[in-house]
Amino acid sequence: MTYHCAVLGNPIAHSQSPEIHARFAREHGIALDYTRILVEPGHFASIVRDFFARGGTGLNVTLPCKEEAFALATRHTPYAQTARAANTLWMADDELWADNTDGRGLVRALSHDHQYPLQGKRILLLGAGGAARGVVLPLCEAQPAVIHIANRTLDKAQAIVAEHAHIGVPLEALALDGLADRYDLIINATSAGLSGAALALPDSIHHEKTLAYDMVYGKDTPFLAWARARNLAAHDGHSMLVNQAYLSFCQWFQIDSESRP
Ligand code: NAP
Repeated sequence: MTYHCAVLGNPIAHSQSPEIHARFAREHGIALDYTRILVEPGHFASIVRDFFARGGTGLNVTLPCKEEAFALATRHTPYAQTARAANTLWMADDELWADNTDGRGLVRALSHDHQYPLQGKRILLLGAGGAARGVVLPLCEAQPAVIHIANRTLDKAQAIVAEHAHIGVPLEALALDGLADRYDLIINATSAGLSGAALALPDSIHHEKTLAYDMVYGKDTPFLAWARARNLAAHDGHSMLVNQAYLSFCQWFQIDSESRP
């Protein structure tokens, strides 16, 4: 039996998801047809309904449809709920389920691919957009010592901190130009690098073993250049992309995500 999955977004031609999922399918011996579907404005809901009515197994959702995916779903995982955005959809018991695997994908990338456990670490998260919001709960679950969220627009960082205040990990919102502490891990969740814009980061925020991680992938961003110029270990977001995809795949096919060869 061949299973059908797809990724929805606009633009979508650039998406690496079909190749990434084809590899998982080969590794797990699953016959998978995974396509890219371009979503024109106003067509998201009908495409999703039609896909599952035809027996589709699962959907990935990328920009600009993640909030619409969240709104369309009738059941949400806690990760989709806190992110208020979904990148993974499937049907179960006649309900449309939504998950957001981005944050757990990041944590898995750091701990598995880069052998960087987060427990006890001091983390600086740059940015307070959708990507940053989606990673805070999984980062907190990894039990870091502290997470500081710094954003150009301070009140967006403050809102994320307020929403996660009950979790028990010390969180603080900072202005991007108010950085003073030193961190073990600096995660760039801003989209600044997409346009080649550099963040003005002071040298006081890193030590010699600080790890720098940019969620942007396939691009040598000014943030990665900043880190490498200081001899810091630095990674782009490709490992997060692969791991968030793997967690979607595991959800659709009921695979234990720890079982990947
Ligand atoms: P978003 O919601 O549009 O948020 C953009 C963030 O970047 C905001 O915090 C914004 O600050 C900040 N920003 C943009 N330009 C800036 C600049 N010149 N200086 C300082 N801050 C700037 O975008 P998003 O959905 O969070 O996505 C952020 C990035 O994560 C994107 O590059 C996306 O490709 C990447 N991402 C990667 C993965 C992966 O699997 N690797 C998954 C999800 C997202 P303000 O609030 O002040 O505007």
